Amino acid sequence: MIISLFILTVALGLVLQIAWKQNRALRQLQEAAQRNQPYLREENPANFLPQWRPLVDAINQLIRSNSELQHQHTDQLSQLEATLGNLREAVLIVDESNYIHLANRALRVIFPAARDLVNLRLELIVRSRPFIEYVRATRTGPALPRQEFEIIDGSSTIWIEVSGAPIAAPDGKSQWALFVIHDMTEQRKLEHVRRDFVANASHELRTPLSIIKGYIETLVDGHLTMAVEDRDKFLRTIQRHSERLNAIIDDLLVLSRLESATPGLKFAPVQLDHYFTNLAADYQQRPHARGYQISAQAAAELGTISADEEKLTQIFSNLIENALKYTAAGSQIEIGARLVESDEVECFVRDNGPGIPSEDLAHIFERFYRVEKGRSRETGGTGLGLSIVKHLAHLHGGRVWAESPPGQGLTILVRLPRSRSA
Ligand code: ADP
Repeated sequence: MIISLFILTVALGLVLQIAWKQNRALRQLQEAAQRNQPYLREENPANFLPQWRPLVDAINQLIRSNSELQHQHTDQLSQLEATLGNLREAVLIVDESNYIHLANRALRVIFPAARDLVNLRLELIVRSRPFIEYVRATRTGPALPRQEFEIIDGSSTIWIEVSGAPIAAPDGKSQWALFVIHDMTEQRKLEHVRRDFVANASHELRTPLSIIKGYIETLVDGHLTMAVEDRDKFLRTIQRHSERLNAIIDDLLVLSRLESATPGLKFAPVQLDHYFTNLAADYQQRPHARGYQISAQAAAELGTISADEEKLTQIFSNLIENALKYTAAGSQIEIGARLVESDEVECFVRDNGPGIPSEDLAHIFERFYRVEKGRSRETGGTGLGLSIVKHLAHLHGGRVWAESPPGQGLTILVRLPRSRSA
Protein backbone atom coordinates (compact mmCIF):
# COMPACT_ATOMS: atom_id res chain seq x y z
CA MET A 1 0.00 0.00 0.00
CA ILE A 2 2.78 2.36 1.10
CA ILE A 3 4.85 1.27 -1.93
CA SER A 4 2.08 1.90 -4.43
CA LEU A 5 1.40 5.36 -2.85
CA PHE A 6 5.07 6.14 -3.22
CA ILE A 7 5.04 5.06 -6.91
CA LEU A 8 1.94 7.20 -7.55
CA THR A 9 3.54 10.28 -5.96
CA VAL A 10 6.72 9.82 -8.02
CA ALA A 11 4.68 9.37 -11.26
CA LEU A 12 2.58 12.44 -10.48
CA GLY A 13 5.75 14.44 -9.81
CA LEU A 14 7.18 13.34 -13.15
CA VAL A 15 3.98 14.23 -15.03
CA LEU A 16 3.87 17.67 -13.38
CA GLN A 17 7.53 18.29 -14.17
CA ILE A 18 6.98 17.43 -17.84
CA ALA A 19 3.88 19.65 -18.01
CA TRP A 20 5.79 22.53 -16.40
CA LYS A 21 8.74 22.04 -18.85
CA GLN A 22 6.36 22.01 -21.81
CA ASN A 23 4.68 25.15 -20.60
CA ARG A 24 7.97 27.06 -20.28
CA ALA A 25 9.26 25.81 -23.63
CA LEU A 26 6.00 26.89 -25.26
CA ARG A 27 6.24 30.39 -23.75
CA GLN A 28 9.88 30.75 -24.85
CA LEU A 29 9.00 29.60 -28.35
CA GLN A 30 6.21 32.17 -28.53
CA GLU A 31 8.55 34.96 -27.31
CA ALA A 32 11.15 33.98 -29.93
CA ALA A 33 8.54 34.22 -32.71
CA GLN A 34 7.41 37.62 -31.41
CA ARG A 35 10.99 38.95 -31.31
CA ASN A 36 11.58 37.45 -34.74
CA GLN A 37 14.68 35.64 -33.38
CA PRO A 38 15.23 31.86 -33.61
CA TYR A 39 14.60 29.74 -30.52
CA LEU A 40 17.95 28.43 -29.30
CA ARG A 41 17.58 25.14 -27.45
CA GLU A 42 21.22 25.47 -26.22
CA GLU A 43 20.05 28.44 -24.15
CA ASN A 44 17.32 26.37 -22.52
CA PRO A 45 18.62 22.76 -22.40
CA ALA A 46 16.63 21.98 -19.26
CA ASN A 47 13.29 22.89 -20.84
CA PHE A 48 13.87 21.33 -24.21
CA LEU A 49 11.94 18.18 -24.99
CA PRO A 50 13.53 15.97 -27.69
CA GLN A 51 10.16 15.18 -29.29
CA TRP A 52 9.75 18.96 -30.01
CA ARG A 53 12.83 19.16 -32.22
CA PRO A 54 10.96 18.99 -35.62
CA LEU A 55 8.47 21.67 -34.47
CA VAL A 56 11.21 24.01 -33.16
CA ASP A 57 13.27 23.55 -36.35
CA ALA A 58 10.27 24.38 -38.55
CA ILE A 59 9.42 27.49 -36.50
CA ASN A 60 13.06 28.67 -36.55
CA GLN A 61 13.18 28.22 -40.31
CA LEU A 62 10.05 30.38 -40.66
CA ILE A 63 11.50 33.08 -38.39
CA ARG A 64 14.76 33.16 -40.41
CA SER A 65 13.07 33.49 -43.80
CA ASN A 66 10.72 36.15 -42.45
CA SER A 67 13.55 38.33 -41.13
CA GLU A 68 15.51 37.79 -44.35
CA LEU A 69 12.48 39.04 -46.32
CA GLN A 70 12.18 42.06 -44.04
CA HIS A 71 15.87 42.90 -44.54
CA GLN A 72 15.52 42.54 -48.30
CA HIS A 73 12.52 44.85 -48.24
CA THR A 74 14.32 47.54 -46.19
CA ASP A 75 17.40 47.25 -48.45
CA GLN A 76 15.28 47.59 -51.58
CA LEU A 77 13.49 50.65 -50.20
CA SER A 78 16.71 52.36 -49.13
CA GLN A 79 18.29 51.56 -52.51
CA LEU A 80 15.22 53.00 -54.22
CA GLU A 81 15.30 56.03 -51.95
CA ALA A 82 18.96 56.65 -52.77
CA THR A 83 18.20 56.39 -56.49
CA LEU A 84 15.13 58.60 -56.36
CA GLY A 85 16.54 61.03 -53.79
CA ASN A 86 18.05 63.39 -56.37
CA LEU A 87 15.18 63.28 -58.84
CA ARG A 88 13.49 66.62 -59.47
CA GLU A 89 10.16 64.86 -59.55
CA ALA A 90 8.60 63.98 -56.24
CA VAL A 91 8.06 60.24 -55.73
CA LEU A 92 5.71 58.63 -53.25
CA ILE A 93 4.98 54.97 -52.43
CA VAL A 94 2.06 54.05 -50.20
CA ASP A 95 0.87 50.66 -49.00
CA GLU A 96 -2.62 49.19 -48.99
CA SER A 97 -3.55 51.21 -45.88
CA ASN A 98 -2.11 54.50 -47.20
CA TYR A 99 1.00 54.33 -45.00
CA ILE A 100 3.92 56.07 -46.71
CA HIS A 101 6.86 53.74 -47.41
CA LEU A 102 8.90 56.02 -49.62
CA ALA A 103 9.04 59.81 -49.97
CA ASN A 104 12.02 61.31 -51.77
CA ARG A 105 13.59 64.71 -51.10
CA ALA A 106 11.53 66.50 -53.77
CA LEU A 107 8.34 65.34 -52.06
CA ARG A 108 9.52 66.65 -48.69
CA VAL A 109 10.08 70.04 -50.36
CA ILE A 110 6.43 70.12 -51.47
CA PHE A 111 5.18 69.23 -47.97
CA PRO A 112 7.70 70.93 -45.69
CA ALA A 113 5.33 71.02 -42.72
CA ALA A 114 5.61 67.23 -42.23
CA ARG A 115 9.14 66.58 -41.00
CA ASP A 116 9.42 62.87 -41.76
CA LEU A 117 6.87 61.48 -44.14
CA VAL A 118 7.81 57.80 -43.97
CA ASN A 119 5.50 55.64 -41.82
CA LEU A 120 2.86 58.39 -41.65
CA ARG A 121 -0.66 58.00 -43.01
CA LEU A 122 -1.06 59.88 -46.28
CA GLU A 123 -4.29 61.48 -45.05
CA LEU A 124 -2.28 63.37 -42.39
CA ILE A 125 -0.05 65.00 -44.99
CA VAL A 126 -2.27 65.60 -47.99
CA ARG A 127 -5.61 66.91 -46.86
CA SER A 128 -7.55 66.41 -50.05
CA ARG A 129 -10.39 63.95 -50.42
CA PRO A 130 -10.13 63.81 -54.25
CA PHE A 131 -6.41 63.01 -54.01
CA ILE A 132 -6.94 60.23 -51.45
CA GLU A 133 -9.68 58.83 -53.70
CA TYR A 134 -7.26 58.98 -56.67
CA VAL A 135 -4.69 57.03 -54.61
CA ARG A 136 -7.27 54.38 -53.79
CA ALA A 137 -8.44 54.12 -57.40
CA THR A 138 -4.83 53.88 -58.67
CA ARG A 139 -4.15 50.96 -56.35
CA THR A 140 -7.25 49.02 -57.22
CA GLY A 141 -8.58 50.02 -60.61
CA PRO A 142 -7.50 50.45 -64.23
CA ALA A 143 -4.77 53.00 -65.14
CA LEU A 144 -5.86 56.60 -64.51
CA PRO A 145 -4.81 59.68 -66.49
CA ARG A 146 -2.56 62.30 -64.88
CA GLN A 147 -4.60 64.61 -62.66
CA GLU A 148 -4.17 67.96 -60.93
CA PHE A 149 -5.23 68.62 -57.32
CA GLU A 150 -5.61 71.83 -55.37
CA ILE A 151 -4.61 71.32 -51.75
CA ILE A 152 -5.59 73.94 -49.24
CA ASP A 153 -3.81 73.81 -45.90
CA GLY A 154 -4.73 76.68 -43.59
CA SER A 155 -3.95 79.88 -45.43
CA SER A 156 -1.69 78.33 -48.08
CA THR A 157 -2.72 76.58 -51.27
CA ILE A 158 -0.58 74.29 -53.37
CA TRP A 159 -1.29 72.68 -56.72
CA ILE A 160 0.13 69.25 -57.57
CA GLU A 161 -0.04 67.21 -60.75
CA VAL A 162 -0.04 63.49 -60.03
CA SER A 163 0.38 60.32 -62.08
CA GLY A 164 0.33 56.93 -60.41
CA ALA A 165 0.66 53.19 -60.97
CA PRO A 166 -0.14 50.15 -58.83
CA ILE A 167 2.85 48.08 -57.67
CA ALA A 168 3.04 44.71 -55.91
CA ALA A 169 3.89 44.89 -52.21
CA PRO A 170 7.25 43.26 -51.30
CA ASP A 171 5.42 40.36 -49.64
CA GLY A 172 3.59 39.83 -52.95
CA LYS A 173 0.26 39.58 -51.13
CA SER A 174 -1.13 43.11 -51.32
CA GLN A 175 -1.22 46.01 -53.78
CA TRP A 176 0.75 49.22 -53.16
CA ALA A 177 0.92 52.32 -55.37
CA LEU A 178 3.67 54.58 -56.66
CA PHE A 179 3.09 58.24 -57.59
CA VAL A 180 5.15 60.85 -59.42
CA ILE A 181 4.16 64.34 -58.30
CA HIS A 182 4.94 67.72 -59.89
CA ASP A 183 4.59 70.91 -57.89
CA MET A 184 2.54 73.28 -60.07
CA THR A 185 2.10 76.01 -57.41
CA GLU A 186 4.46 78.62 -58.92
CA GLN A 187 3.01 78.10 -62.38
CA ARG A 188 -0.59 78.45 -61.18
CA LYS A 189 0.24 81.56 -59.11
CA LEU A 190 1.94 83.14 -62.14
CA GLU A 191 -1.10 82.34 -64.26
CA HIS A 192 -3.24 84.07 -61.65
CA VAL A 193 -1.05 87.16 -61.70
CA ARG A 194 -1.07 87.17 -65.51
CA ARG A 195 -4.86 86.79 -65.65
CA ASP A 196 -5.34 89.62 -63.16
CA PHE A 197 -2.92 91.76 -65.10
CA VAL A 198 -4.69 91.20 -68.42
CA ALA A 199 -8.04 91.99 -66.78
CA ASN A 200 -6.66 95.16 -65.16
CA ALA A 201 -4.87 96.31 -68.31
CA SER A 202 -8.01 95.78 -70.42
CA HIS A 203 -10.04 97.74 -67.90
CA GLU A 204 -7.51 100.59 -67.85
CA LEU A 205 -7.43 100.79 -71.65
CA ARG A 206 -11.17 100.46 -72.04
CA THR A 207 -11.97 103.49 -69.85
CA PRO A 208 -10.29 106.20 -72.00
CA LEU A 209 -11.25 104.34 -75.16
CA SER A 210 -14.96 104.37 -74.36
CA ILE A 211 -14.78 108.09 -73.46
CA ILE A 212 -13.07 108.82 -76.80
CA LYS A 213 -15.67 106.70 -78.64
CA GLY A 214 -18.57 108.51 -76.94
CA TYR A 215 -17.24 111.98 -77.81
CA ILE A 216 -16.46 111.00 -81.40
CA GLU A 217 -19.99 109.64 -81.88
CA THR A 218 -21.44 112.91 -80.58
CA LEU A 219 -19.17 114.89 -82.91
CA VAL A 220 -20.03 112.73 -85.93
CA ASP A 221 -23.73 113.24 -85.32
CA GLY A 222 -23.71 116.93 -84.42
CA HIS A 223 -20.50 118.66 -85.47
CA LEU A 224 -22.33 120.72 -88.14
CA THR A 225 -24.82 122.20 -85.74
CA MET A 226 -22.65 122.26 -82.57
CA ALA A 227 -21.36 125.48 -81.01
CA VAL A 228 -17.67 126.01 -81.74
CA GLU A 229 -16.78 126.13 -78.01
CA ASP A 230 -18.49 122.78 -77.42
CA ARG A 231 -16.71 121.23 -80.36
CA ASP A 232 -13.44 122.61 -79.02
CA LYS A 233 -14.15 121.20 -75.55
CA PHE A 234 -15.00 117.77 -77.03
CA LEU A 235 -11.85 117.67 -79.14
CA ARG A 236 -9.67 118.60 -76.16
CA THR A 237 -11.25 115.83 -74.07
CA ILE A 238 -10.56 113.36 -76.87
CA GLN A 239 -6.97 114.60 -77.01
CA ARG A 240 -6.50 114.26 -73.23
CA HIS A 241 -7.82 110.70 -73.18
CA SER A 242 -5.80 109.62 -76.21
CA GLU A 243 -2.71 110.93 -74.42
CA ARG A 244 -3.69 108.82 -71.42
CA LEU A 245 -4.10 105.77 -73.64
CA ASN A 246 -0.71 106.47 -75.11
CA ALA A 247 0.87 106.84 -71.66
CA ILE A 248 -0.60 103.51 -70.46
CA ILE A 249 0.63 101.70 -73.57
CA ASP A 250 4.08 103.30 -73.25
CA ASP A 251 4.33 102.23 -69.59
CA LEU A 252 3.12 98.71 -70.42
CA LEU A 253 5.82 98.45 -73.09
CA VAL A 254 8.46 99.70 -70.64
CA LEU A 255 7.35 97.08 -68.09
CA SER A 256 7.37 94.25 -70.61
CA ARG A 257 10.86 95.26 -71.80
CA LEU A 258 12.12 95.36 -68.20
CA GLU A 259 10.64 91.91 -67.56
CA SER A 260 12.17 90.43 -70.69
CA ALA A 261 15.33 88.33 -70.63
CA THR A 262 17.29 91.24 -72.17
CA PRO A 263 16.21 94.46 -70.45
CA GLY A 264 19.29 96.13 -71.98
CA LEU A 265 20.88 97.91 -69.02
CA LYS A 266 24.26 99.57 -69.56
CA PHE A 267 26.18 99.80 -66.31
CA ALA A 268 28.80 102.51 -65.74
CA PRO A 269 30.09 104.44 -62.69
CA VAL A 270 27.73 107.23 -61.60
CA GLN A 271 29.04 109.95 -59.25
CA LEU A 272 26.08 110.21 -56.85
CA ASP A 273 26.53 113.76 -55.44
CA HIS A 274 26.79 115.23 -58.95
CA TYR A 275 23.93 113.10 -60.16
CA PHE A 276 21.42 114.26 -57.53
CA THR A 277 22.56 117.91 -57.63
CA ASN A 278 22.12 118.01 -61.41
CA LEU A 279 18.75 116.26 -61.28
CA ALA A 280 17.42 118.75 -58.67
CA ALA A 281 18.76 121.69 -60.73
CA ASP A 282 17.12 120.28 -63.85
CA TYR A 283 13.71 120.05 -62.12
CA GLN A 284 14.02 123.52 -60.60
CA GLN A 285 14.04 124.84 -64.22
CA ARG A 286 10.97 122.91 -65.38
CA PRO A 287 7.78 125.00 -65.71
CA HIS A 288 5.48 122.49 -63.98
CA ALA A 289 7.84 122.33 -60.99
CA ARG A 290 7.95 126.05 -60.48
CA GLY A 291 6.69 127.00 -57.02
CA TYR A 292 8.05 123.77 -55.44
CA GLN A 293 11.17 123.73 -53.28
CA ILE A 294 13.34 121.02 -54.78
CA SER A 295 16.70 120.32 -53.13
CA ALA A 296 19.45 117.66 -53.23
CA GLN A 297 21.24 116.08 -50.25
CA ALA A 298 24.17 114.00 -51.35
CA ALA A 299 27.66 114.26 -49.89
CA ALA A 300 30.83 113.81 -51.98
CA GLU A 301 31.83 110.84 -49.72
CA LEU A 302 29.08 108.79 -51.36
CA GLY A 303 31.44 108.31 -54.30
CA THR A 304 30.21 106.34 -57.28
CA ILE A 305 27.83 103.47 -57.85
CA SER A 306 27.66 101.15 -60.81
CA ALA A 307 24.34 101.87 -62.54
CA ASP A 308 22.59 102.55 -65.83
CA GLU A 309 22.31 106.33 -65.56
CA GLU A 310 19.37 106.58 -67.94
CA LYS A 311 17.42 104.00 -65.93
CA LEU A 312 18.45 105.68 -62.67
CA THR A 313 16.89 108.88 -64.05
CA GLN A 314 13.75 106.91 -64.96
CA ILE A 315 13.51 105.84 -61.27
CA PHE A 316 14.05 109.27 -59.74
CA SER A 317 12.07 111.25 -62.37
CA ASN A 318 9.10 108.98 -61.74
CA LEU A 319 9.37 109.62 -57.99
CA ILE A 320 9.82 113.39 -58.37
CA GLU A 321 6.90 113.57 -60.85
CA ASN A 322 4.74 111.74 -58.28
CA ALA A 323 5.77 114.21 -55.58
CA LEU A 324 4.80 117.07 -57.93
CA LYS A 325 1.48 115.39 -58.78
CA TYR A 326 0.34 114.47 -55.29
CA THR A 327 1.52 117.46 -53.20
CA ALA A 328 0.30 121.05 -53.32
CA ALA A 329 2.38 123.77 -54.96
CA GLY A 330 4.92 125.20 -52.51
CA SER A 331 5.72 121.76 -51.03
CA GLN A 332 9.26 120.63 -50.35
CA ILE A 333 10.79 117.80 -52.34
CA GLU A 334 14.16 116.45 -51.21
CA ILE A 335 16.19 113.99 -53.20
CA GLY A 336 19.53 112.42 -52.34
CA ALA A 337 21.34 109.46 -50.84
CA ARG A 338 23.28 108.34 -47.79
CA LEU A 339 25.76 105.57 -47.20
CA VAL A 340 24.23 102.75 -45.15
CA GLU A 341 26.72 99.93 -45.46
CA SER A 342 30.14 100.09 -46.98
CA ASP A 343 28.72 98.47 -50.11
CA GLU A 344 25.21 99.98 -50.24
CA VAL A 345 23.63 103.39 -50.66
CA GLU A 346 20.12 104.42 -49.65
CA CYS A 347 18.64 106.91 -52.10
CA PHE A 348 15.45 108.78 -51.25
CA VAL A 349 12.78 111.08 -52.61
CA ARG A 350 10.95 112.79 -49.76
CA ASP A 351 8.00 115.19 -49.85
CA ASN A 352 5.93 116.90 -47.16
CA GLY A 353 2.58 116.30 -48.84
CA PRO A 354 -0.44 114.29 -47.67
CA GLY A 355 1.48 110.99 -47.60
CA ILE A 356 -0.13 107.55 -47.99
CA PRO A 357 -2.30 105.72 -45.40
CA SER A 358 -0.42 102.80 -43.83
CA GLU A 359 -2.87 100.19 -45.21
CA ASP A 360 -2.03 101.26 -48.78
CA LEU A 361 1.74 101.48 -48.37
CA ALA A 362 2.49 97.82 -49.07
CA HIS A 363 0.43 97.88 -52.29
CA ILE A 364 1.58 101.02 -54.08
CA PHE A 365 4.25 99.12 -56.03
CA GLU A 366 1.62 96.80 -57.56
CA ARG A 367 0.56 97.44 -61.13
CA PHE A 368 -2.43 99.77 -61.47
CA TYR A 369 -2.70 100.28 -57.71
CA ARG A 370 -3.80 103.82 -56.93
CA VAL A 371 -4.52 105.32 -53.54
CA GLU A 372 -6.63 108.13 -54.93
CA LYS A 373 -7.97 106.95 -58.28
CA GLY A 374 -9.49 110.31 -59.25
CA ARG A 375 -6.36 112.35 -58.52
CA SER A 376 -4.12 109.89 -60.39
CA ARG A 377 -6.29 109.92 -63.54
CA GLU A 378 -6.79 113.68 -63.38
CA THR A 379 -3.03 114.21 -63.41
CA GLY A 380 -2.45 111.70 -66.21
CA GLY A 381 -1.22 108.88 -63.95
CA THR A 382 -1.15 105.34 -65.33
CA GLY A 383 -0.85 103.47 -62.02
CA LEU A 384 2.30 101.82 -63.38
CA GLY A 385 4.99 104.34 -62.37
CA LEU A 386 5.96 102.73 -59.05
CA SER A 387 5.99 99.19 -60.47
CA ILE A 388 8.43 100.43 -63.12
CA VAL A 389 10.52 101.94 -60.28
CA LYS A 390 10.48 98.61 -58.42
CA HIS A 391 11.56 96.67 -61.51
CA LEU A 392 14.38 99.10 -62.25
CA ALA A 393 15.62 98.92 -58.65
CA HIS A 394 15.60 95.09 -58.84
CA LEU A 395 17.51 95.16 -62.12
CA HIS A 396 20.18 97.18 -60.30
CA GLY A 397 20.30 94.52 -57.57
CA GLY A 398 18.47 96.81 -55.14
CA ARG A 399 15.09 97.14 -53.47
CA VAL A 400 12.53 99.84 -52.87
CA TRP A 401 9.97 100.63 -50.18
CA ALA A 402 7.88 103.52 -48.86
CA GLU A 403 7.57 105.19 -45.47
CA SER A 404 4.84 107.60 -44.52
CA PRO A 405 4.56 108.51 -40.83
CA PRO A 406 1.24 110.35 -40.27
CA GLY A 407 1.50 114.05 -41.14
CA GLN A 408 5.07 113.77 -42.45
CA GLY A 409 4.56 113.29 -46.18
CA LEU A 410 5.96 110.37 -48.15
CA THR A 411 9.50 109.04 -48.48
CA ILE A 412 10.36 106.47 -51.12
CA LEU A 413 13.64 104.70 -50.36
CA VAL A 414 15.71 102.94 -52.99
CA ARG A 415 18.59 100.88 -51.66
CA LEU A 416 21.22 100.10 -54.28
CA PRO A 417 24.49 98.17 -54.18
CA ARG A 418 27.53 100.34 -54.98
CA SER A 419 28.99 97.78 -57.32
CA ARG A 420 27.23 95.23 -59.51
CA SER A 421 28.82 92.25 -57.78
CA ALA A 422 27.62 93.52 -54.38
P1 ADP B 1 0.30 106.88 -60.84
O1 ADP B 1 0.59 106.82 -62.28
O2 ADP B 1 -1.15 106.74 -60.50
O3 ADP B 1 0.94 108.03 -60.17
P2 ADP B 1 2.19 105.24 -59.39
O4 ADP B 1 2.47 103.80 -59.52
O5 ADP B 1 3.32 106.17 -59.72
O6 ADP B 1 0.92 105.53 -60.27
O7 ADP B 1 1.73 105.53 -57.91
C1 ADP B 1 0.76 104.72 -57.31
C2 ADP B 1 -0.12 105.50 -56.37
O8 ADP B 1 0.64 105.90 -55.22
C3 ADP B 1 -0.62 106.80 -56.95
O9 ADP B 1 -1.80 106.59 -57.68
C4 ADP B 1 -0.85 107.65 -55.73
O10 ADP B 1 -2.15 107.39 -55.23
C5 ADP B 1 0.18 107.16 -54.74
N1 ADP B 1 1.36 108.07 -54.66
C6 ADP B 1 2.50 107.98 -55.35
N2 ADP B 1 3.36 108.95 -55.01
C7 ADP B 1 2.75 109.68 -54.07
C8 ADP B 1 3.14 110.85 -53.29
N3 ADP B 1 4.33 111.43 -53.46
N4 ADP B 1 2.25 111.30 -52.38
C9 ADP B 1 1.05 110.71 -52.21
N5 ADP B 1 0.63 109.65 -52.90
C10 ADP B 1 1.46 109.14 -53.83
